[in-house]
Amino acid sequence: MVDFKAIRAQFPILDQEIHGHPLVYLDSAATSQKPNAVIDAEANFYRTINAGVHRGAHELAARSTMAFEEARAKVAKLVGANAAEGEEEVVVTGGATAGLNLLATAFGNASLGRGGEAAKRFALKPGDEIVVSRAEHHSVLLPFQELSYRTGATFKWIDLTEDGRVRTDNLDEVITERTKVVAVTHVGNATGAITNIAPIIKRAHEVGSIFILDACQSVPHLKVDFHALDVDFAAWSAHKMYGPTGVGFLYGKRDLLEALPPANFGGSMVELAYMDHEAQYMAPPARFEAGTRPVAQVVAAGVAAEWMMNIGLENIEAHEKTIAAELLKLGDVDGIRILGPRENVDRIGTVAFDVAGVHPHDVGQFIDAQGIAIRVGHHCAQPVHRHFGLYASNRASSGVYNSVEDAQALVEAAKGIRKFFG
Ligand code: PLP
Repeated sequence: MVDFKAIRAQFPILDQEIHGHPLVYLDSAATSQKPNAVIDAEANFYRTINAGVHRGAHELAARSTMAFEEARAKVAKLVGANAAEGEEEVVVTGGATAGLNLLATAFGNASLGRGGEAAKRFALKPGDEIVVSRAEHHSVLLPFQELSYRTGATFKWIDLTEDGRVRTDNLDEVITERTKVVAVTHVGNATGAITNIAPIIKRAHEVGSIFILDACQSVPHLKVDFHALDVDFAAWSAHKMYGPTGVGFLYGKRDLLEALPPANFGGSMVELAYMDHEAQYMAPPARFEAGTRPVAQVVAAGVAAEWMMNIGLENIEAHEKTIAAELLKLGDVDGIRILGPRENVDRIGTVAFDVAGVHPHDVGQFIDAQGIAIRVGHHCAQPVHRHFGLYASNRASSGVYNSVEDAQALVEAAKGIRKFFG
């Protein structure tokens, strides 16, 4: 049995009052709080081994390089990826958005003929298709929409069911022999719905397409194994999985990473650089890690991954399911509509809701006055909101430190919203 009260006590930020109430943090889908182990790891890195990685002959540089690569290995283990030297499948990025843009830019470069013969599998031209889903965060939608504008490829999407799940009943129509890239979220950041990705991946591969997973909202909450899922690429952020901001990861099957041309150029990614002819780039992951990496943050992200694995991903998932059950009771409150699946099946503890007649910002302030932090707005998912006939909503989202009591506090507070606003 995991003692989740003891786990909560590892988060110093939660031990405070907001507006005279104990803080209830229900905004982990935006960013998670950090346990002492992660905060200490970042500070200790600066206190003891701070140095540039992969360069310098001195001992501190060797230690920081080792810490950096160990962190990569821990993060790789969390998602079932390879990390052995020469077989690395995890690239360090600045976040999920940076990783997704890296891919879209690299595919764009391949479309311009860069990267030679091997990169042709990523090249797009007019008539080809890029497919996303309506559930996407803008960080998937926009880079791949932009890629379609640059290459002339047709931009298509898989629509949602009434309760906001990515549809899987018409995949043969949407994903066709012309589809070259499919990018879909594992968990909707607005709806909390877990996408039934297996048939989407199967269909993508059937037609020879690359499949990209947005794993931002799954890796922090579920046991995820990219090999078992057979995804080609996946992007996620450290700050939503109890790690620091400014860091993310991009998973890629090794053979694909080796074939992919670089997207960003500069130091630390080049084997040989010349004035009068083309550079020779390094093998992955270095090829995609131009410039100085946020080393302290990567090391701390590795600690976050290890910390999660020590709790056990199954335990995290089961714990948050109890919170989701409680949050879903928001749907029983008069005037409240849940945007997403109502049943506690194939979903996480992220619950967006609309309060009839009350603007989300008013809802947010009313809830905040009681010490409860939720998110309001469109959550960078405007097409999802349009699907529900709205521009914005309120969103409560759980983390490993939340208790059923936290969710109950929100539901109780929510009962007062319409009374207060008349
Ligand atoms: N994808 C999803 C599903 C998200 O929830 C987020 C963050 O909100 C992102 C992508 C972008 O992540 P970041 O802002 O950390 O780059």
